[in-house]
Amino acid sequence: MQSVAQLLSAMQADIGRYLGNDLACISPIDGESLASLRVDSPEQVQEKVGAAHAAFLQWRMVPAPRRGELVRLFGDELRSNKEILGKLVTIETGKILQEGLGEVQEMIDICDFAVGLSRQLYGLTIASERPGHRMMETWHPLGVVAVISAFNFPVAVWSWNAALAFACGDSVVWKPSEKAPLTAIAVQALFEKAMARFGADAPAGLSQLVIGGQDCGAALVDDTRVPLVSATGSTRMGKAVAERCARRLARTLFELGGNNAMIVAPSADLELSTRAIVFSAVGTAGQRCTSLRRLFVHDDVAERLLPRLKTVYASLPVGNPLDEGTLVGPLIDEAALQGMQLALERARAEGGKVHGGEPVQVGKGGYYARPALVEMPSQTGIMHHETFAPILYVVRYQTLEQAIAMNNAVAQGLSSSIFTTDVREAERFMSAGGSDCGIANVNIGPSGAEIGGAFGGEKDSGGGRESGSDAWKAYMRRATNTVNYSDALPLAQGIRFDI
Ligand code: NAD
Repeated sequence: MQSVAQLLSAMQADIGRYLGNDLACISPIDGESLASLRVDSPEQVQEKVGAAHAAFLQWRMVPAPRRGELVRLFGDELRSNKEILGKLVTIETGKILQEGLGEVQEMIDICDFAVGLSRQLYGLTIASERPGHRMMETWHPLGVVAVISAFNFPVAVWSWNAALAFACGDSVVWKPSEKAPLTAIAVQALFEKAMARFGADAPAGLSQLVIGGQDCGAALVDDTRVPLVSATGSTRMGKAVAERCARRLARTLFELGGNNAMIVAPSADLELSTRAIVFSAVGTAGQRCTSLRRLFVHDDVAERLLPRLKTVYASLPVGNPLDEGTLVGPLIDEAALQGMQLALERARAEGGKVHGGEPVQVGKGGYYARPALVEMPSQTGIMHHETFAPILYVVRYQTLEQAIAMNNAVAQGLSSSIFTTDVREAERFMSAGGSDCGIANVNIGPSGAEIGGAFGGEKDSGGGRESGSDAWKAYMRRATNTVNYSDALPLAQGIRFDI
């Protein structure tokens, strides 16, 4: 296996710049130490924000299509380094290699999206009520964007934000998860390579990387030179960051926890449903914000679906995520495994029948578990929590109203789906009276969002929208301009101003 040092040096990342004794980087695959880094002090965070702010003042004046060219070059770097970076994602987070590669592909896709966007930052021309006037809106760059990211998508989340922010004329300060700083160091190096190829009009401080934990994040959040904080992680973190940002009226974009459900209706294609359930519930060992955690199965199909699911669950290959054939890798750390076991205990106490879920020994270290399928008598207390592990609770239902009500009963509103071939059921699920989640899918599981849609959730999931659709507007400020091309000064209707 290539060492982390070899992978980083293949991407021309100078790890020496970051080494220290403050933060141990551990691979969840085997518990091996990968590196030890120093963390940034609050003063160093301020310096980096200062450098990003100075860069912003120049970058905002570079024409947007030219800014898009930098994003295009960065996308090229990602294409050339996809295998190496994808492998590093696997080593640092424990997701299987195909998912590590998939994460880098998502970065490439959002770069392509942002390149096109750099020529489409359109404002409206608005009919003025005043004679001889024209009114229009103009979108301008916003400033320094702080990106705080979670461990489970260590590089894609940054790129959803950063590719748009750079195209929109902003600079970016990134604080990755303290559990996944090495991939961030690699990405920063690839971005610096793209900047070197781009030329002198890319100001030096455009992309800043801050290494550290909550304190570092807090220093970034409190800095008045940061007009937008985009934070991805737990709901607990979102609430803490929201409070601090509200104190200084800063803009926020949140992508927080999920507790996603799927409804399997009587007319569902059960083969398709089974594949979608397994992919959504056990992919990334249940450590996706969009992981399927609650399954509502109609009484009519439960006896056909559940035995099949139990068989598949019992044979899922759990193991080293670098090995071909492994579908379920490790949990991120010991606390995650403990959290999973506690949740299963509570599910049993609430009347659940647990299949699987036991810890699995793989090699010498790491925290692995067999995914758990838990038959519940109803949607009990534990099902209202996001346990970041592969646990799928199953509850039977009789009517679509019941199923939609259970889907909507939890605080988190990230992603949801229904499997049905009845168009009326599908449309009801997507209607105003249907799922209250930010993502409502039909005949596809809740996980695996595409960059083209604005990704995000409602309710406790934070309401943010990063990535596609019109998410770019969050990274810009809007000015309304009124131009008088007459020789009169008509003010707004009903107002006279005689001198
Ligand atoms: P986490 O909340 O523990 O940490 C996320 C980031 O926030 C880290 O960089 C951390 O250092 C920082 N942070 C934590 N507290 C902070 C504070 N008070 N001030 C500033 N920064 C702070 O989350 P995690 O364990 O890394 O990730 C898992 C969680 O993230 C899950 O809840 C998952 O659903 C969520 N997630 C959501 C999305 C989404 O798009 N909705 C995507 C990925 C992960």
